Amino acid sequence: MIKVKTTISFAGGVIRYAGDALAPGEAGRRRLCILNYHRILAQPDPLLDSEPTVETFRWQMALLAKCFNVLPLHDAIGMLGTRDMPPRAVAITFDDGYRSLHDLALPVLREFKLPATVFITTGHIDQGNMWNDRIIETVQTMAADQLDLTDLGLGTYALHGVAQRRAAIATLTERAKYLAPAARQAVVGRLGVLAGQGAGSELMLTREMVLNLERSGIEIGAHTVSHPILTSLDDAAARAEIAGCKAELEAILGKPVPLFAYPNGKPGKDYDARHVAMVREAGYDAAFSTEVGAISCDHDRFQLPRSRPWDITPLGFGLRLVQWLAQRHSR
Ligand SMILES: [Zn+2]
Repeated sequence: MIKVKTTISFAGGVIRYAGDALAPGEAGRRRLCILNYHRILAQPDPLLDSEPTVETFRWQMALLAKCFNVLPLHDAIGMLGTRDMPPRAVAITFDDGYRSLHDLALPVLREFKLPATVFITTGHIDQGNMWNDRIIETVQTMAADQLDLTDLGLGTYALHGVAQRRAAIATLTERAKYLAPAARQAVVGRLGVLAGQGAGSELMLTREMVLNLERSGIEIGAHTVSHPILTSLDDAAARAEIAGCKAELEAILGKPVPLFAYPNGKPGKDYDARHVAMVREAGYDAAFSTEVGAISCDHDRFQLPRSRPWDITPLGFGLRLVQWLAQRHSR
């Protein structure tokens, strides 16, 4: 921890200087970088190496508090194109509604007094785990050294050791992601049988936790009902996912839910112009993709990029944000 503190202290000056030197001169042209987290891990997991541990998350938040201006997302969107946008502006978001936000990230956010927004998939509140986590769970807990899903058209996977298990998770997740909902459900059902009764832990937020997050100042946004790839649905089903999630969250919170994030979020692949129109019609104020980079006032308010630096050192992490904040986008 002392080493990280020293590094952040050293990196802080460099990052602030670079951020101000490279950013657009005019205050009205300043950009905003929106960070996109999912799960936070209590300790390192070789099968989940893309998710930060709470220790990593803590130095990242310490760095943001020291070197950047972290804004509530909804306020930050309103500042785009105005002189109110501060330099080195960042907003923090979490997708899907993992309980690790409540149990592990919230105490850190409070410690550094940082605002954040969570985009929740309402179908998973108080429910079992998401399909992708079921895949991880099964592959983590299976004693057998092979997973056979040929009858579901998904092939076989060798499971000797961590590298093969990690590869199996990545391949199976990518294949299942673009299946129609019923076919994906069949995969999840099979994995449940293979994992056995009671395998794994409850990973998603409860309704009480959602209310507690809201009371703690975390902004709640919508992320559909069942986390489908919207382009795989017909229009009526996509509309129900987009509007139904908003209605459900508003009923829980007793207040409007103005922000939406597209599941998986790749423009043109996971959602298209029809879904952007549906999000507008449902009454949202703004929506977010997972396209990489910072946003400016020139961006479509219903397709705002969010990204997460993958760098493992404080200096690399901070300079990546600075680089995104300095870049002109191509649209
Ligand atoms: Zn998601």
